[in-house]
Amino acid sequence: MLSTMPTSYKRFTPIACTITGLALALIVALFYWLYTTSKDNILITWSNEAQHTAKNVNYAMKMPMDAVAFSSLKVNEMLAKGIDHKSVGAFLVNETAIYAKVIDENTTGIYSYYRGQYLDGSGWIPPKAYQPKERPWYKAALQGQGKIVLAKPYLNLQTEIMMTSVSQLLNDGNSVVSMDIFLNGVQRAIQNFGQKKEVAAAFVIDADGFVVAHSDRDKIGIEIGEHGSLLEVALYQAFKAQHVHKPLPEGETEDSTTLVQRLELNDAAGEKFTGLVAKVNNDWNVLFILNEEEMYASLTSIYLTSSLILFLVLGTCLSVFLHMSRKYQEAEELNKEIQAVASIYTSAINIDLATDRMTIIRTNPNIEALLGKDMSNFSGRAIALAEAFSSEQSRELMKQFMDPTTLEERLTDTHSISQEFVDCKNRWMRLRFVVVDRKKTGLLHHILLAFESIDEDRKQQEVLRKLSETDLMTGIRNRGSGENLVRKAMAEGMCGMFCLMDTDKFKHINDTYGHATGDKVLIALAQSLTKTFRETDIVFRLGGDEFAAFSKGVITEEIGKKIMGRLFNNIAAIEIPELLGQNIAVSIGAAFYPANQEDTFESLYERADNGTYQSKKVTGNRVTFIWHSEKEGKS
Ligand code: GH3
Ligand code: MG
Repeated sequence: MLSTMPTSYKRFTPIACTITGLALALIVALFYWLYTTSKDNILITWSNEAQHTAKNVNYAMKMPMDAVAFSSLKVNEMLAKGIDHKSVGAFLVNETAIYAKVIDENTTGIYSYYRGQYLDGSGWIPPKAYQPKERPWYKAALQGQGKIVLAKPYLNLQTEIMMTSVSQLLNDGNSVVSMDIFLNGVQRAIQNFGQKKEVAAAFVIDADGFVVAHSDRDKIGIEIGEHGSLLEVALYQAFKAQHVHKPLPEGETEDSTTLVQRLELNDAAGEKFTGLVAKVNNDWNVLFILNEEEMYASLTSIYLTSSLILFLVLGTCLSVFLHMSRKYQEAEELNKEIQAVASIYTSAINIDLATDRMTIIRTNPNIEALLGKDMSNFSGRAIALAEAFSSEQSRELMKQFMDPTTLEERLTDTHSISQEFVDCKNRWMRLRFVVVDRKKTGLLHHILLAFESIDEDRKQQEVLRKLSETDLMTGIRNRGSGENLVRKAMAEGMCGMFCLMDTDKFKHINDTYGHATGDKVLIALAQSLTKTFRETDIVFRLGGDEFAAFSKGVITEEIGKKIMGRLFNNIAAIEIPELLGQNIAVSIGAAFYPANQEDTFESLYERADNGTYQSKKVTGNRVTFIWHSEKEGKS
């Protein structure tokens, strides 16, 4: 269909496509940017989540650590004062009772190794073999050198709950205050993540990679670096290798971005994972392994769906736009074509019959001058306008045609009516009323008054008419047209002489001197006839070597004979060298009209024909006048 498109439309299409292409590229770029930004935001959200979890772990550990710090402070004072074991033991019992109320997590209470003796706040009596200085809590305290420390966590086999000891070495460098705590709170902080599809694993490890809490409870207490899943091992090793959480420059505080370290991971199938590491206050860390596909799944579907919708909308817009512009182009083409058709009319006026107002649609200076500036009162001015733009002979006709009172009736069953006329400048015109629309009642509402110049057509018609009436070889009228004119003159009451002329021995001329010479003879005879008769007379060729003439007003043999004498002279003067001096002779029959009241063209012709027949009987130029038809018995 492209081949039928207008040229400008063809040129326009690639421009529209380029613009759309650029718009699409821009949209794709914008969507990509939004997609990556949203991805970053999702990552930030998860980083915050990791950091928040680390804070929860901190919170769960803070109270026991504060409790040990507070108790150590007191026991240190007692140590300085040399307070005895019994009093310190009582103090520890008292403290344990208090902490049981204020610490959310279960504890075993405060206990101490005080000046070479184990004292327990919960009333637990150690077996004889119990070596306090060999216990992890004591060793951790020694290593801590006075700082609050956490002993290596361990799984309580009875409760299957992870436990640890918070302990502190006292000022004598030998005594220790400690408290065992259950790590339920830490497990709680991490456990819920196991249900989230984005989280492949979430866990808390101590400085050596020992799992303190895990979203998969079964993994609590394992060494992650040895018994973790591939991803867990990979994350742990990467975390170790990169020395995450370098000390911050002085004056800077940690925020979520500096607190959480991000590591990229791939599983065996090549799927992408993100590892997040958030630091807990002691040497523990919270680690998250996130499945990227799950993490960004909603994002991908949102952006894919929106881009699809956008493409569809854009595509629809483009196709609607192209369709519209094509229609517009087609309308323009159509308009041009209509304009071309409309240009047939030299001027056109739209008339609103309801308001009697005229609107010029197309005009020329003549019509403009006639109409003037006032476009109102069409019905009042119609007759005057008709008079103004038509010639004298067309005036009455045009007054009738422009008559507004009969318009409705004349246009009842037709779409248009027209009238040809000669305008004031003697040019042939055609005036046409065309119905534009009607009211609901069926009465005319708007009509078009259109002027068409038909002057040129008329001239051409005249040429064609002349051609159809002319005998092509001789140039005089042919039989049909000549006969019509004679009949018309007779009908108009014109009297006259009708002659029929037949060339003598014409076949012989053709045969002897050739057909071309015969033609020359016929042309010469036609010329002799036109030369002989007046312009107002009717001279025509009947066909072959026969001619006819109607001499208007000639009603006597006397004048007829004079004319015939003139004709014979003219024929005698014909000079055709090919004839080699051979004379041309004709036989003529002549009759007068009217012979009687009932005289007709047919009987007139018959009389003349009879005359020719008589003349043929005599050799040489001859004319015979016939006054009465043979039926009347006279000649
Ligand atoms: P007649 O004296 O009895 O009239 O004898 P004729 O030989 O003239 O016979 P007739 O009038 O019947 O023959 C007319 C001839 O004119 C017959 C035809 O061959 C010839 N003719 C008819 N039309 C043309 C024409 O256009 N050109 C020429 N050269 N000859 C024509
Ligand atoms: Mg003849």
